[in-house]
Amino acid sequence: MRRRYSGDNGGMHPTNPAQFDDAMADRVPAPDEVREGIWSIPLPMRQPGNPFSLCYLIAGDDGSLHLIDTGYDTDENFAMLLAALDAFGLKLDDLASVFATHLHPDHLGMTGRLRAASGARIGMLRREHEGLVAIAGGDLTVTEGLIASWGVPPERRPELDLRTGDRPTARGGVPEVDRSYEPGQALEVPGRSIQLLATPGHTAGSASLVDADAGLIYTGDTVLPKIFSGLGLGDRTGEANPIADYLNSLEMLARYDELEVAPGHGYRFRGLIERNAVLAEHHLDRSRAAAEIIRADPDATVWEVASRLRWTAGWQNLNGFFLLSALSQTALHLDFARSDAFPG
Ligand SMILES: [Zn+2]
Repeated sequence: MRRRYSGDNGGMHPTNPAQFDDAMADRVPAPDEVREGIWSIPLPMRQPGNPFSLCYLIAGDDGSLHLIDTGYDTDENFAMLLAALDAFGLKLDDLASVFATHLHPDHLGMTGRLRAASGARIGMLRREHEGLVAIAGGDLTVTEGLIASWGVPPERRPELDLRTGDRPTARGGVPEVDRSYEPGQALEVPGRSIQLLATPGHTAGSASLVDADAGLIYTGDTVLPKIFSGLGLGDRTGEANPIADYLNSLEMLARYDELEVAPGHGYRFRGLIERNAVLAEHHLDRSRAAAEIIRADPDATVWEVASRLRWTAGWQNLNGFFLLSALSQTALHLDFARSDAFPG
């Protein structure tokens, strides 16, 4: 089934050299016009190796403006967004809608502020909106019971408490969402046809958007050119395995290979199939490594398996949120390795 991913990976190339250079040097690129009436606006964020998110502003043929993702909610980002609008001769008053590809604060962050400032309607996929409500209601992905079941030594448990850390919706509660979309529906942008796709994996309700006329696909954090997205980072309501979901999403996206990819971080590029092959292989590799450990030691806990996997930062250096993330990714890979969907 996944044989198509085993080809060479030479076909991926950036489409804006200046943006690519900045992204590779961890600098925030300048805003630029992607197509007539479509602009990319990078906004800074603080995450090692991932210093900015990319928002996309789209003009309808009636002059209305529509934003895909908003960046983190900071005064600096709001000022930068206003400055970009100004530079392109646009006005915040014309902002009619904002669509968030997923519930993380670097994508959803400024929706409340933008809604208050412009009256823009806020939209998400219904599945992601449900996740947002579940998380804000205290239905955390990671509970104390789960952490104990992972075999985390008691002295390491307090640092994993999400209530003291950076929760997706920690800032300002749940933003108002005016419209929940189903996959297959179109964004309401006059004069354009922008179709919504469900691409679960990074979160359960992650969306991608296709504007075939413009030759663009907006992939949020489902497909990124430079880094590997974590998986299962929204609510985990339901039984789906985020890794299986993610691999299916990558496979489904193969049909859009001719489009230029406009991702949520990094740089625009062509070569979706090639990039997706690398992403799929990265996650399958992790699952295989986890599977190998439990073949030799079937009773190994999530903690023990994680401690034997290879981590970029080094296992000994992982703490707090990063340790939690490593453990939760390990648990996902173990679930996946034990499932029928695992190709081995
Ligand atoms: Zn992101």
